[in-house]
Amino acid sequence: MYMRLAFVFPPSMPPTAPPCGIAYLKAFLGQGTLFDLNLSYHDASVHAMNECSLPVEAELRGYVLEPEQLKEAAIFLKDGKEFFNPEEYNVNVSIFINYMKKVDSYLTEQSMRYVFEDSIDDEAQTFFDHLLSPVREYHPDLVGFSQMILSQREFILGLAKMLKTEDIPVVVGGASLSYNPGAYLSEIGTKKIDLSHFFDAVFYGEGELSLKAYIEGEDLEKIPNIVYKKETIIKNEESGLSDIDVLPPPDFDGFPLKEYYSPKVILPLLTSRGCYWMRCTFCIHHRSYYRYRVRSTEKVIQDLKELQKRYNAFYFNLIDEMIHPRRFDQLSERILQEKLNIRFYADARPTKDFTPSLLRKMYTAGVRAVLWGVESGTQRILDVIDKGTTIPDIEAVLQTSHEAGIWNMIFVIMGYPTVTEDDVKNDITFFTKNEQYISTLARSLFHLEVGSRIYENPEKFCITKIEENPDPFSAICRYEVSEGLLNREAERIYRKHRKEMMSISKVSPYFGRLRDHMLLFADHLSLNPLTDT
Ligand code: SF4
Repeated sequence: MYMRLAFVFPPSMPPTAPPCGIAYLKAFLGQGTLFDLNLSYHDASVHAMNECSLPVEAELRGYVLEPEQLKEAAIFLKDGKEFFNPEEYNVNVSIFINYMKKVDSYLTEQSMRYVFEDSIDDEAQTFFDHLLSPVREYHPDLVGFSQMILSQREFILGLAKMLKTEDIPVVVGGASLSYNPGAYLSEIGTKKIDLSHFFDAVFYGEGELSLKAYIEGEDLEKIPNIVYKKETIIKNEESGLSDIDVLPPPDFDGFPLKEYYSPKVILPLLTSRGCYWMRCTFCIHHRSYYRYRVRSTEKVIQDLKELQKRYNAFYFNLIDEMIHPRRFDQLSERILQEKLNIRFYADARPTKDFTPSLLRKMYTAGVRAVLWGVESGTQRILDVIDKGTTIPDIEAVLQTSHEAGIWNMIFVIMGYPTVTEDDVKNDITFFTKNEQYISTLARSLFHLEVGSRIYENPEKFCITKIEENPDPFSAICRYEVSEGLLNREAERIYRKHRKEMMSISKVSPYFGRLRDHMLLFADHLSLNPLTDT
């Protein structure tokens, strides 16, 4: 039976809002303390520049930036007096992001050196000790790391090893562990480092039921969604809550909400699990969840009210994989009936169900930005993706959404299997033709991932050879094609049109990454921004 749980969110992700997963777990279990080491990591990095306490600072000082500029950039992003001046915003975000890239790269390398060679620079060790000090001072009897994206793994491995030297039990779970969770208990690298010395157990899929059983001391054989090691690595069956209405709203108590790198508190909220569409041939997102379930509209309204009351929050990020237009309609209707004074953004698929009246209703209810899964401006590629969208519908949705006052961020995939040079040029023409309706264009490279429909039926997508990734943690594979461009080849064509692409994104090229900030700008520049929140 564990009594002092430390839920830890590790670096490095944009520190604009508190993490959601561990806030849900804490609420469900009714115990534990939250540690956002990602936020502390960014704060400590800014401080380190002043103190010149990491080698990277010495490298940057007087060359890329002065400590004072970085300190000012951090203050700018946090306190927000000049936040909504686009020019100032872009200068300060650029300073902050470029500096953090250097720090991330140095500390990631140090963390992995510590894992593999047991050696680390004194400066990095001091930094990590400082980062871990609140967790150590809490004297946990169990530390649970939450890994939302794969790139947090290097820090988790290093930090877990440091905690293990003090015999603190450590477990790991999170959204990005659906692929090969057993890797966290296996022997890795040429030196065969045994990670089962770092972790007592690994949780994949949804964590509530399994973590509850684990901390209550249930036999490992009986716990769902767990991976553990006896003589061999054992992965138990997946399970999950059939009714997500039984969950309480996330508990953000203990997070320093005013300290995030956004001038307003923005809270994440999950209103459904999985994806109602589940057909896109590249996607494995829906595999992070047990199956598709929605929280009832009434519960979501209660959550929003409760979070607003407890944290004085007016801005929300609905972090669902994808929200159905019917659900947007129901939610908007109830928000309007309840006269909730909130602003939010979410992901959606641009289908014709997003009618002008629905989009207007969404705006009135507080939707200020939608992240649309556009993916391509070429119908043949949309069909290869099985997106279930058409070019005329996408154009109509972007236009009416824009006219309703909603900011459209669109996701685009570069180098989808079978794409030709003409398709890429056609995409670019489509984006430039519709640029007046697009606020941010976020491009990403196609990746072939284990578990996707393309991976399972490569021949249908002209993929002739798949090479498994030697990195046991990563689902991404190299591949060869018989027709069409490889992803990097498509990216090269995009790069030639960099200027046109850059000019499509309005206000800031950083919104693809800092989406919470996009919401704040979209509201600030709207006809009826929230004031005095
Ligand atoms: S890409 Fe989005 S809409 Fe498509 S299956 Fe994945 S989560 Fe669902």
